[in-house]
Amino acid sequence: MAKEQPQNDKKDILYSAIILAVLVLVIILSTVEFRAMREVCTIVEGPGVTGRGRLAEYFKELEESPGDTDIYFMEGAEPGGTVLVMGGLHPNEPAGLLAAVVLIENAVVETGRMIVIPHANASGYTHTESMQASPPHFAIQTEWGERVFRYGSRLSSPLHQYPDPQAYTHPSGMLLSGPEVRNLNRVFPGRPDGLLTEKIAWGIMNLIWDEKVDLVIDIHEARPINPVVNCIMAHPRVIDVASIAIMDLGADWGVPIRLEPSPEGMRGITHREIGDHSDALAVILESPNPAMDALRGPTDAELVVYGKDDFFKRAGEAGLIRVPYIDCQGFPIDRRTGRHTTTVKVLIDTFTEFHFDKPVIVNGIPTKDEIIEKGLGHFFLKP
Ligand SMILES: [Zn+2]
Repeated sequence: MAKEQPQNDKKDILYSAIILAVLVLVIILSTVEFRAMREVCTIVEGPGVTGRGRLAEYFKELEESPGDTDIYFMEGAEPGGTVLVMGGLHPNEPAGLLAAVVLIENAVVETGRMIVIPHANASGYTHTESMQASPPHFAIQTEWGERVFRYGSRLSSPLHQYPDPQAYTHPSGMLLSGPEVRNLNRVFPGRPDGLLTEKIAWGIMNLIWDEKVDLVIDIHEARPINPVVNCIMAHPRVIDVASIAIMDLGADWGVPIRLEPSPEGMRGITHREIGDHSDALAVILESPNPAMDALRGPTDAELVVYGKDDFFKRAGEAGLIRVPYIDCQGFPIDRRTGRHTTTVKVLIDTFTEFHFDKPVIVNGIPTKDEIIEKGLGHFFLKP
């Protein structure tokens, strides 16, 4: 037995070396993956982009912070009104981001101005929600290959804003659960001396004030079992424009959509606070995203992109969800994104009909039918 000792030692050393090598490999791979999550997806400046800025230019406190984010300016040859379109206030609602990217890469403004913030909560794009098993990325097929986008979390990263209070008191006095202090769509109009998410909201408010924005369109997605889905939520001052847009969308553009007036007591949400604290008219758009609903089965990039899930199919057949689950089609992201781009186009056109002294004319916004016909990937430029 004593003779075998050196050989056993050699085996032990070999096993230890293999375990160490595997550990080092796992650490390297996870470090690369973890660092990659800090990068938001690449966006290509389309033919209509006339300038790019950063949110920190409107609120210095955001400089070098994880809340700073890119802003795209699209200016027409003729002066007119200013529209701000935001995606990514909730980074787990991907059709909002994709609609913003489609605008940046395809739209051309003829009159007035369009400003687009695609990753409104940049911090929320650096992580996924805990216990939700969300995929960190998803890809859209294009004619030249795959375009990859980040799938983030509803809330800002706890690495950037920690700890959460037991309860969050909105400046209006409304009390919310502690983690909601990291929900960008609950902290508007923000606080200049607040926590990071409140500072992002304050930066966006500064942009709206400084750039004299006339219309704000904030693009979201909602759980299909949520009653507030496939709708425009509108501040009272924009009910007229939203109502006419809804009739046009249903009659002429194949986008049946409902109107939801902004509840007065529900504070911190963009359309309510921007409408109350600025001259801008403000709406939120919602489409159904099964990947964020508790009813879902396995949560992967396929579910994000194709929106097919047996549980939703059965719930749809039983009449338990608020939006039709189209058999064999589910809630595909091209339809969800197309619904948003068409709604943005019709809202801008209707705004111009109501406010001819501040016209905004935008060409080249792909509609839902064009996106379904050519595929969403057709409208993404090659980085
Ligand atoms: Zn949302």
